[in-house]
Amino acid sequence: MSRNQTGDRISRWIRADVRATRAYHVPDATGMIKLDAMENPFGWPADMVDAWHETLRGVELNRYPDPHARQLTDVLRAAMAVPADAGVLLGNGSDELIQMIVMAVAGAGRCVMSLEPGFVMYRIISQLCRVDYVGVPLDANFVLDLDATLAAIAEHEPAVIFIAYPNNPTGNLFDAGSIEQILEAAPGFVVVDEAYHVFAGQSFMPRLVDYPHLLVMRTVSKMGLAGLRLGLLAGNAALIGELDKVRLPYNINVLTQLTARFALQHAEVLDEQAAAIREERTRVFDTLSQRSGLEVFPSQANFILFRTPAGGASAIHAALKAAGILIKNLDGGAPALRDCLRVTIGTREENDAFLAALGEALGA
Ligand SMILES: *Cc1c(COP(=O)(O)O)cnc(C)c1O
Repeated sequence: MSRNQTGDRISRWIRADVRATRAYHVPDATGMIKLDAMENPFGWPADMVDAWHETLRGVELNRYPDPHARQLTDVLRAAMAVPADAGVLLGNGSDELIQMIVMAVAGAGRCVMSLEPGFVMYRIISQLCRVDYVGVPLDANFVLDLDATLAAIAEHEPAVIFIAYPNNPTGNLFDAGSIEQILEAAPGFVVVDEAYHVFAGQSFMPRLVDYPHLLVMRTVSKMGLAGLRLGLLAGNAALIGELDKVRLPYNINVLTQLTARFALQHAEVLDEQAAAIREERTRVFDTLSQRSGLEVFPSQANFILFRTPAGGASAIHAALKAAGILIKNLDGGAPALRDCLRVTIGTREENDAFLAALGEALGA
């Protein structure tokens, strides 16, 4: 078939809205100090790696995985303090859970709501599922605007409201009382996305017993297992049972099931790493705050958002890149993030390299 014919078929059959979308871009980070994607910078001690390799010997790659990942689910329930009566659904990353939730509610006249600036996958997945998406602006300090949010809920009656807690890319925890009021007002489901729980400590997990329309989402990605792709959704058992029907069978592969179990059985290693990241977060925050010209936003996550002098973000981002340090440039997207950059907390050495290169770029 000629190239033109393929092009014709693409324009005839691939949805116009898909053709108009740009693929989610992940920059090449080969050889760079990678502080752009909220990864944990630490590896495992050598004896732990050896023990993990030993467990992999028994894996039967010729067999399908346990479709319900029962052993892993039990370990996760305990590790994440899921209430005994709650149901649990696992996803290939929490991104897949967001997709399952949106697919389960998608339909004409339905809408998904979130707060902005926030996690972009809520909007991207909604659009791909052809569900209307409503973003409610946070205030200028990225605080949840309760009046505006309640008004938007009354006007749009969203099937689902996603709230990242702490929020990405801003790093702050919203007021828990405001989220309770949203839960009281919501006609549909409220997903509290706790991707950064290990850095924040606060959680709505215990509140599952109070709100049958609350769903709490966690991921192991930011804890140090981003390569595994594993997320967890906890909520009312009947509701989880419905969402489970949207899940593809065997979505959690055998290597992920085994490795996540192993890692959670060595939770003290991950906990120590999270503690080290929280300490470094304080140090990086204090250092950035002392620099004149920067507005630094408080963070309960493993990254820090900061605003550069007007018009300076892209040049600073490029200068850091030239110095071998990759962070995230948020300038040029949402107006609320004008002049904003986001740096993930790395090892002490990586953070020092970032702070030194930033100092150079700002004209130390
Ligand atoms: C990183 C992130 C996720 C995605 O997590 P995965 O489990 O890696 O798919 C979900 N929600 C928020 C708010 C995030 O920042």
